[in-house]
Amino acid sequence: MMGTTWSQVFVRLSLLLALGLFLGSVFGHVWLFLCLTLSLILAWHLHNLYRLDNWLQKSKKLDPPEATGIWGEVFYQIYKLQKRNRKRKRKLASMLKQFQASTGAMPDAAIVLSSKNEIEWFNKAAVQLLGLKTAQDIGQIVSNLVRVPDFTDFLRAVTEHDMNPRGRSIKILSPTQPHIMLRIHLVPYGDNKRLMIARDITDLHRLEQIRQDFVANVSHELRTPLTVINGFVETLQDDLPDMDEHTQAQWQRPVDLMAQQTRRMQNIVSDLLVLSRLESQIPNDIRKPVDIKYLLDDLSDEAMALSGEAQHQFECEFADDLQMYGSPDELESAFANLVFNAVRYTAAGGCITLRWYSDESGAHFSVEDTGEGIAEQHIPRLTERFYRVDVGRSRQQGGTGLGLAIVKHVLHRHQAHLHIDSQLGKGSVFRCDFPLSAIVQDDAEVTELAEETASEL
Ligand code: ADP
Repeated sequence: MMGTTWSQVFVRLSLLLALGLFLGSVFGHVWLFLCLTLSLILAWHLHNLYRLDNWLQKSKKLDPPEATGIWGEVFYQIYKLQKRNRKRKRKLASMLKQFQASTGAMPDAAIVLSSKNEIEWFNKAAVQLLGLKTAQDIGQIVSNLVRVPDFTDFLRAVTEHDMNPRGRSIKILSPTQPHIMLRIHLVPYGDNKRLMIARDITDLHRLEQIRQDFVANVSHELRTPLTVINGFVETLQDDLPDMDEHTQAQWQRPVDLMAQQTRRMQNIVSDLLVLSRLESQIPNDIRKPVDIKYLLDDLSDEAMALSGEAQHQFECEFADDLQMYGSPDELESAFANLVFNAVRYTAAGGCITLRWYSDESGAHFSVEDTGEGIAEQHIPRLTERFYRVDVGRSRQQGGTGLGLAIVKHVLHRHQAHLHIDSQLGKGSVFRCDFPLSAIVQDDAEVTELAEETASEL
């Protein structure tokens, strides 16, 4: 179509120029008539250009102005383009409306954050759950509006330490409705942006609370009767040698079994109480400087005593001047579980190496043994409560199945991780990785701690 139009343009132009030439030769002024003809053609084009500009800039009408020739074609093509654009715009607007309606109906609060944590967009649930106000909160830093210290720390950790927030989350109380418990997730996407999702987990939290309270109460209630039973069983054990031979023969084994099982139950109850405490208490003494070497020296002595006739070889490599912030009791309980496990699951004469050191990633405590090792499929589940590779073997060793669960909780409270490496039949390495921020850097504090330890000794 365009081809025909352009050939028409050339035909018209040639005809006009030929007419100009003809009239010029008739009147004896060829150049004058040629100039006049060209000026007329230019004027016509300028006039149409002016109408086009007027239509595009000022007129709100979609329909183009009437025009002939090539300009008619140009107007028509622009009109078609505009019509297509308007259609696309309408489609996008309706899609956006649908998207906003669906995210608006979402029960979870969703907020789009810029790389500087400024709010770019949020849904209706964010207004109810986090107290954001429409329009005026756009562009504000999210931690200035959601003023919950735990959330601010979490956001700082994610932003400043470039911590990968995938899978990481935090529980906070809703700032607007304190009876609502929220779990906040930060999901990175696109160009350094983050999607913040806050989910109401009040029911789940309540159930978890009930479970925790139940376990804590049951353990607490069982502790006293068990102490009483254990007391009587120990008395029986003490008195048995004074009884006649027949009674001794009849009762020695049952009484020993009773003593063993009561101790086992006491250990389980005590571990459950430790776990309940770890779950429910806020780690308030977690920033105490702890002399880990001092703690480990004691622990290795205890481990050697536990090893007894098995005569394991112990190797200890403890960095002298490496102190860390933490809870001394909790760390001792976690490290003891790892060290005693190594003793219990390593055959007599095996080698156990304890290391406390630091590198560019932080501080580490590792326990390496040449014991029975663990098959790969069990490793991810070892820190679950009551998960044992071999239940019989664990019981025989006096295990409760709760040791590694305690380790995991303690490490979690210290922002640390447990790394397990093991080969069946060859041995295992259990390593606790603490972040750099856990290491005591201040010389004054280290000296103070050394003096404190010296005075305790
Ligand atoms: P338990 O009281 O049974 O030792 P833990 O939670 O401490 O419970 O450990 C869970 C399981 O992990 C143990 O039952 C054992 O099978 C395995 N395990 C732990 N430490 C070691 C180790 N050093 N070598 C081999 N297996 C181990």
